[in-house]
Amino acid sequence: MKILQNVSLLPYNTFGLDIKAEHFAEISSVDDLRAGLRAGIQPIFLLGGGSNVLFTQDVEGLVLKNNLRGIQVIREFKNKVWVEVGGGEVWHEFVLWAVANNYGGVENLSLIPGTVGAAPIQNIGAYGVELKDVFVRLNALNLTTGKLKTFNHSVCRFGYRDSIFKREERGKWCITSVVFSLTKAPHRLNTTYGDVSKTLESNGIISPSIADISRAVVQIRSSKLPDPAKIGNCGSFFKNPETDRSVLERILATHPQAPHYPLPEGRVKIPAGWLIEQCGWKGKRVGNTGCYERQALVVVNYGGATGEEVKNLAEAIIESVERGFGVRLEAEVNIWPPL
Ligand SMILES: Cc1cc2nc3c(=O)[nH]c(=O)nc-3n(C[C@H](O)[C@H](O)[C@H](O)COP(=O)(O)OP(=O)(O)OC[C@H]3O[C@@H](n4cnc5c(N)ncnc54)[C@H](O)[C@@H]3O)c2cc1C
Repeated sequence: MKILQNVSLLPYNTFGLDIKAEHFAEISSVDDLRAGLRAGIQPIFLLGGGSNVLFTQDVEGLVLKNNLRGIQVIREFKNKVWVEVGGGEVWHEFVLWAVANNYGGVENLSLIPGTVGAAPIQNIGAYGVELKDVFVRLNALNLTTGKLKTFNHSVCRFGYRDSIFKREERGKWCITSVVFSLTKAPHRLNTTYGDVSKTLESNGIISPSIADISRAVVQIRSSKLPDPAKIGNCGSFFKNPETDRSVLERILATHPQAPHYPLPEGRVKIPAGWLIEQCGWKGKRVGNTGCYERQALVVVNYGGATGEEVKNLAEAIIESVERGFGVRLEAEVNIWPPL
């Protein structure tokens, strides 16, 4: 492992921001990781695919790019397998591996950018499935002590785009591997999500395989979301707000058509994209940044934007939604340095 100095992170973040890391190294093993810690450069920032981080300034300390690889079946049951996957594996490549081996459970999560090690951090989710549905445990190395620890499902306290790694354990660990429980055929398929069932139908598929679902999800995502290779972005910039029913009632009084989804304990989820669109942001361009024309949740860098400009646009959107609806949006993207 070689520690480099003053390295541009342009190829390593999907917002396409040309910011610099004071020190940078790629790690391919736990030994590399420990060598990185022994170098004594602080703070350490763990980088996966850079698809959920907005850098607003150059990064002091040491950026470690996770390249820990490996996909291995570690336990075989009658109806399922447990698979251990290196934290630096590309998420979508793991999904393709699972589909090719006819192991089910992650096909709805096809084409989500980033690495396997970052996936538990915000409990990635799409099209009716979340990482927590297939998660068994993860292994992580403490960035202060260098010791490995196993985190089981309940310890991670997964929530909607949330886990302890976004809260009290933030920035303290490198997730080195994740163990998933995947089904053997016959699989429990999840095609309830409107877009998935419609796409399968228009593809003429009546009894879908996991490969059909994966292909349908890839098709939907490619048509809706900007490709970071062409337009810088981190997917959904904001979380869908979860509010008390009284907040929704107030919104319904002026916007009777407001979409909403019931949650336990009388709470409701309101799509952030709808709120943003109502405030007139969808498709709006501000300098080199903008709110994507096909999906208002996505903040984009049309080229040449700074992290600060992207953050300013996100803040303007948050303020305008709060003024218009009394709902404060929360960023899903990790802003660095933290606010
Ligand atoms: C076009 C697009 C579409 C997207 N769609 C979705 C979607 O449908 N659903 C969804 O949930 N997300 C989505 N995302 C967000 C993103 O893909 C996920 O959050 C992904 O898990 C981020 O992985 P990453 O490796 O790129 O993480 P990074 O951006 O590199 O890191 C994110 C955070 O995790 C930390 N981190 C990274 N790796 C590790 C590790 N091994 N150990 C400890 N900490 C670590 C970093 O320090 C940082 O704080 C989308 C992003 C894009 C660009």
